[in-house]
Amino acid sequence: MTKRVRLREELSRQRAALLTSWNLALAPLSERALYADPADQAASDFGHDLAIQVRTRVIARLKQIEHVLMLMQTKHYGWCRRCRKTIPYARLVVQPDTRFCVACLEFMESGR
Ligand SMILES: [Zn+2]
Repeated sequence: MTKRVRLREELSRQRAALLTSWNLALAPLSERALYADPADQAASDFGHDLAIQVRTRVIARLKQIEHVLMLMQTKHYGWCRRCRKTIPYARLVVQPDTRFCVACLEFMESGR
């Protein structure tokens, strides 16, 4: 099995887990809850707020995974966007959606 296939399986596994937690998640949210004005929101119960937060996070993560899975179909995956070198496999395992190698990331962060 190639490294890339292994990464893809790991991402698929994470996606399945997210979808499971999504399905377990929480009673349906009404549009009113999502677009309530601040006064209403303050009055809404904590569990409801939490439900919205969880959903937002799950959606963001799912989008990210989909994006990486799509990237993997291309030759652009696994290359640092800045120095154009290969990103080490060990780093991709930890963070499959990374776009930069550690050296470039540290350089960019130190610039801030
Ligand atoms: Zn780099």
